[in-house]
Amino acid sequence: MTVSAQRPVRTRFAPSPTGYLHLGGARTALFSWAFARHYGGTFVLRIEDTDLERSTPKAVQAILDGMQWLALTPDEGPFYQMQRMDRYRAVIADMLAKGTAYYCYSTPEEVEAMRERARAIGAKPRYDGTWRPEPGKTLPPIPEGIRPVVRFRSPLEGVTAWDDLVKGPISFDNGELDDLVIARPDGTPTYNFCVVVDDWDMQISHVIRGDDHVNNTPRQINILRALGAEPPRYGHVPMILGPDGEKLSKRHGAVSVMEYDKLGYLPEAMVNYLARLGWSHGNDELFTREQLVEWFDPRHLSRSAAQWDPKKLNWVNAHVLRQHSPEDLAQRVAPRISRRGGNPQAADLPAIMALLRERSETLEDLAEGALLFCGPYRPACAELRAEVLDEAAVSLLRAFLVQSQAQADWSEAGLDALIKAFIKEHGVKMPKLAIPLRVAVTGQKHTPSIGAVLALLGRTTVLERLEASLKA
Ligand code: GLU
Repeated sequence: MTVSAQRPVRTRFAPSPTGYLHLGGARTALFSWAFARHYGGTFVLRIEDTDLERSTPKAVQAILDGMQWLALTPDEGPFYQMQRMDRYRAVIADMLAKGTAYYCYSTPEEVEAMRERARAIGAKPRYDGTWRPEPGKTLPPIPEGIRPVVRFRSPLEGVTAWDDLVKGPISFDNGELDDLVIARPDGTPTYNFCVVVDDWDMQISHVIRGDDHVNNTPRQINILRALGAEPPRYGHVPMILGPDGEKLSKRHGAVSVMEYDKLGYLPEAMVNYLARLGWSHGNDELFTREQLVEWFDPRHLSRSAAQWDPKKLNWVNAHVLRQHSPEDLAQRVAPRISRRGGNPQAADLPAIMALLRERSETLEDLAEGALLFCGPYRPACAELRAEVLDEAAVSLLRAFLVQSQAQADWSEAGLDALIKAFIKEHGVKMPKLAIPLRVAVTGQKHTPSIGAVLALLGRTTVLERLEASLKA
């Protein structure tokens, strides 16, 4: 089984804050979160900010924002590696004392020369163990003026193997692994080492991460074992590919999670869609966050790379839009209408949302559609008028204006009844009236159902625009 009875489930998301929360990272976070929630465990957030050149406070904030938007709330953290330097140094000192790590005074040039020599005989380029202590071995005299690195004394024999939650059994020959540098000459710990100490201290039971980390895993397992720690179980998820089969990148469109907020996607839709990218529960395509947690089984993580499919994301988002109440959508869409220069207060926004919800995929679509009712009114251009408002159409609209002025019931149903009776009386088909009417009162040829549009625009506006249009 994937979960040992003795070990409480503790997962973590450990992003390096170098840009924004990208889709791949969000998906890894989501899997780790769902895994912890499924087993009633703990989800830890750890910011791996030791790369001082690339990590920025802004990038940290972008990750926090992205996780908050997706509601992937950590139970512990965020912890920051930069605040744990003393701990890493203490562990290194301890390893040096115990002999599981050692000082190495070889210069970078010397190490490069060792690698060259290995390459020359067709062997794997690696450090040759000059400074590695062995029983009975005399180490070279310590050179003057050289600040040593600290290397992990990696096992030379045997294999390091694990049963990957996603990929199944994986093993590496220890003979292939170098004695990894765990501290630089200035004493700062290196990447793999910090991860190990953190996973140990934070008692992580399951690591779910991208499969670009597979090569780090045997090194991390060996260091954990040298520390006397039980390694977590690992699951490496394949990357996300773009629609063209190449690794997903900016070329394929937005790759930052928050960009999808701007584009009008709902966080539940992103969660649903991202979860299905590399995980499945039978043929279920649409599910709630609660169902994801209930169903999440890491054995159903896919071994093959998932492909980004914008059409499917839109489909999921359209579905989720329909689950939201018109009032809720109105609230979300109002600022988007204002940004477009419209006035969200100018009309009954929830009623507009109820009308547009069925024909929209994103909040942006809703905002765009709502401009018909609360945006600046743009009367039809001369070309459109010439095309649609011919003599017959104008005389039909004149007759319709008279009846509308007398219409008491301005509800959608009342207007539908009026329109139906009107076309029957005049012996014309619906489009003969509806298209000129749309052009006259909205300036557009295509709108949702004309009865609903007239009702939402309101009596005063419709009559005013119709009159003005017939005068023009
Ligand atoms: N910080 C690493 C990254 O952003 C992840 C480390 C890990 O999950 O072990 O790629």
